This record gives sequence, C-alpha cells and structure tokens, in this order.
Amino acid sequence: MSQAYDVIIVGAGVVGLSSAVMLRQAGIKRILVVDKGAPGREASWAGGGILSPIHPHKYPGPLAALCARSATLYPKFIKDIEELAAFSTEFRSTGLIRLGQNSDDLAEIQAFHSKHGTPFRVLDKAEAKEIEPALSPDFSTVLYEADINQVRNPRLLKALITACSRLGVELLSDDPVERLLVSGDTVEGVQTTRAAYHGEETVLSAGAWSGRIMERSLRRSLKVVPIHGEMLRVETFPPLIKAILIHDGHYLIPRADGQVIIGSTLHDWGFDKKVCLESVQGLLAAAIRIVPALAHCEWKQAWAGLRPASPDRLPYIGRPVGIAGLTVATGHYRNGLLLGPATAEAVTSTILGTDPTLDLSPYAVDRKVPEFRL
Ligand SMILES: Cc1cc2nc3c(=O)[nH]c(=O)nc-3n(C[C@H](O)[C@H](O)[C@H](O)COP(=O)(O)OP(=O)(O)OC[C@H]3O[C@@H](n4cnc5c(N)ncnc54)[C@H](O)[C@@H]3O)c2cc1C
Repeated sequence: MSQAYDVIIVGAGVVGLSSAVMLRQAGIKRILVVDKGAPGREASWAGGGILSPIHPHKYPGPLAALCARSATLYPKFIKDIEELAAFSTEFRSTGLIRLGQNSDDLAEIQAFHSKHGTPFRVLDKAEAKEIEPALSPDFSTVLYEADINQVRNPRLLKALITACSRLGVELLSDDPVERLLVSGDTVEGVQTTRAAYHGEETVLSAGAWSGRIMERSLRRSLKVVPIHGEMLRVETFPPLIKAILIHDGHYLIPRADGQVIIGSTLHDWGFDKKVCLESVQGLLAAAIRIVPALAHCEWKQAWAGLRPASPDRLPYIGRPVGIAGLTVATGHYRNGLLLGPATAEAVTSTILGTDPTLDLSPYAVDRKVPEFRL
C-alpha cells in the first residue's frame, strides 16, 4: 500500500507533534505522524517540564536565543493546544529557586543573568523561608527566578495528541520507520514495518533514534546519542513546595496537586531504560537534603528516559546539505520540552520556505561537531 502526504513526520514526541500542529495551523493539509510505539511516551513523557535550562550558563550562546524564543512562544502555543484539547496542561509560573552552599556556588549563574538581563533576586534566609517554608535552612545562597514556567509534560503530550487528531493530522502508532525512502538525492517518504508512505516532505524527529534512521537511509552520520535520565515521583499533601528547587544538578518539581518530581541522573548507557538502585538512593538523598520533610512523604514511581543529545548540546534543525525533501529536528538534549514551540516554528518555516524568525545556521545539520563527551 502506498499513500501520498504533504508532510510525513517520523516520531511523535514533543518535537514531532508540535511541528505537526504548527504545520497544520500554517495551512499544510495532509500530515502523517508515525511512531514506533505509543505516541508521546519516550523522552518527552519522561522529562520534567521545567521551561528553563538547568545550567543556562554552561551552554553555547545560540541555545539561549532558541530558549528565549521558545519561552516567548509558549503562552500562545499552550492556549491553542488547550483550546483544541479542551483540558489543562498545567502550564504555570511557579518560579525557580537555585540553592548554593557558599557565595561562589552561584556566581557564574548570577553573572549570566546579569549579562542577559534575565530577572532574578538573591534571597536572604528569612525571604527564602517565607517563599518556601519547607526548604532546608542549610543553604547560604538562594537565587530566585520568579518568572520561570513549568508544564506537566505528560498532559502536554496528551493534549498535543488530541490537538493533532482534532486538526485532522493522521497518527500511526506501533509502526517503526525502518528507513527513509530515497530516490537519488531526494527523500520521498518512509518505509515502515507495515507499508510505504510517500510524502512531499519528511521530518526526522525520532529523538535519540534519529541518528540510526539517518545512517541507515542516507549513509550519513548524524551524531545523536541517548543520554539516560532517571526520575522519581513522591506525593505530598497538602502540597509541600511551590517553586522548582535546584541544587547541585538535582531538582524538585512541584505539580499543582502536590506530586513532586525528583530528578535527575545523566548516564551514557545506550538505549537501556533501566532504573538503578544507586540512582534512586542518590536522588532521594539529594531531595531530602533540599526539603527534609520529604522523608515522610509517600513514594509513588521511578522511571527513566533517553535524552537525544548532540555533542555540542545544540539541536539539529534544518535540511541536510544536498538532500531535498528532508528536514531534521532532533538533538534537544535536556531542553526539548522548552524548545518544542521554537523548533516547530523553525521546521514550519523551513518546509514553507519562509524567512525564519531566528538565524538557524547555528543549528545546521551538517555543522562540525566534536566527539561526544558526557
Ligand atoms: C529525565 C529527563 C528529564 C528532562 N527534563 C526536561 C525538562 O525539565 N525540560 C525540558 O525542556 N526538557 C527536559 N528533558 C528533555 C526532553 O524531554 C527532550 O529533549 C525531548 O523530550 C525530546 O523530544 P523529542 O520529540 O525529540 O524526542 P522523544 O520524546 O524521545 O520522541 C521521539 C519519538 O520518536 C519515536 N521513534 C523513534 N524511533 C522511531 C522509528 N524508527 N519510527 C517511528 N518512530 C520512532 C519514539 O518512539 C518517540 O516517540 C528531560 C529528559 C529526560 C529524559
């Protein structure tokens, strides 16, 4: 069986689904999204939904520009999705508090914020206790970024899937794309385990699996590796914390109903999604150190996801040189939930051939990247 689409999207994560919605809103009619499993159940489901980089000062400059653009797009993006889905994604401004043990600890991030003009406040102990009464008094430096948003990402994914269906986007589940259909130097669709699907344009947004598909289909290297991250969920009632709390790479994310997500780990373990006891132990110790009362809260769940990471931590967005009919959108590493709307916007302008809002050259698919190091 062979069918014709305007755009075929490989991968129903936040990147693929957001792109489908924006392409449809831009007037593209026949869109097919194909996933190897259930849509929205890989990294995009596993993530935390913090709509800010954890370490903004450690990333290359162009990442800040893409993050800022996406943060600007988020309120309208959510409004559109929620109107179509008719339920809330719990997109909220909860603020973010960074915790340090000495005055040097957070100096770099303060310098970064001052340079970029992003608002923050240094809190003294009394102010910190007023905003977050359950916070441990052990931290001597407390930095408050009041404007940071979060989204409850499993709900966002569910809403994106519903929005796609309301917009008439076709969604194919449990059907892995084996390879892209290539004729000369043009991609003409995809071959899945069940059928060939022909499309004018194809978007490769298969997260950590994107490199495999690229290499198999075009014999071209696309350096994307899976970086394993574990998360825990505990229940607090009444809700114990209000803001996202970050210390030494670990974070606590409060959901509106009192659930608290504890994250996360970083491992280069290939495509295995196991959860290790040592990681659980480390995450729990870090969480209890930040908010001691968590020790008495109810344990709920542990899981792991695979972040699609490029060696330079920038996503790949655009057309590979010399290949027609293909747009790549992957490698979003720790920031894909934040970067969903700006990536979808860039994918849409690439496919429509319109001027992009941002200069997309830093994210070029064929840019020179170093060898991968965690
Ligand atoms: C523990 C953890 C915490 C995180 N926290 C945050 C955070 O707080 N904020 C933030 O912004 N980001 C966060 N991230 C990062 C973010 O989740 C990812 O960058 C983002 O989800 C990547 O989206 P994606 O659509 O590219 O990939 P995915 O969500 O992995 O989607 C790719 C899709 O492609 C499909 N696919 C793969 N191979 C094939 C194939 N052969 N055929 C068809 N379909 C295929 C997969 O099944 C999957 O559904 C976190 C990630 C993890 C793991």
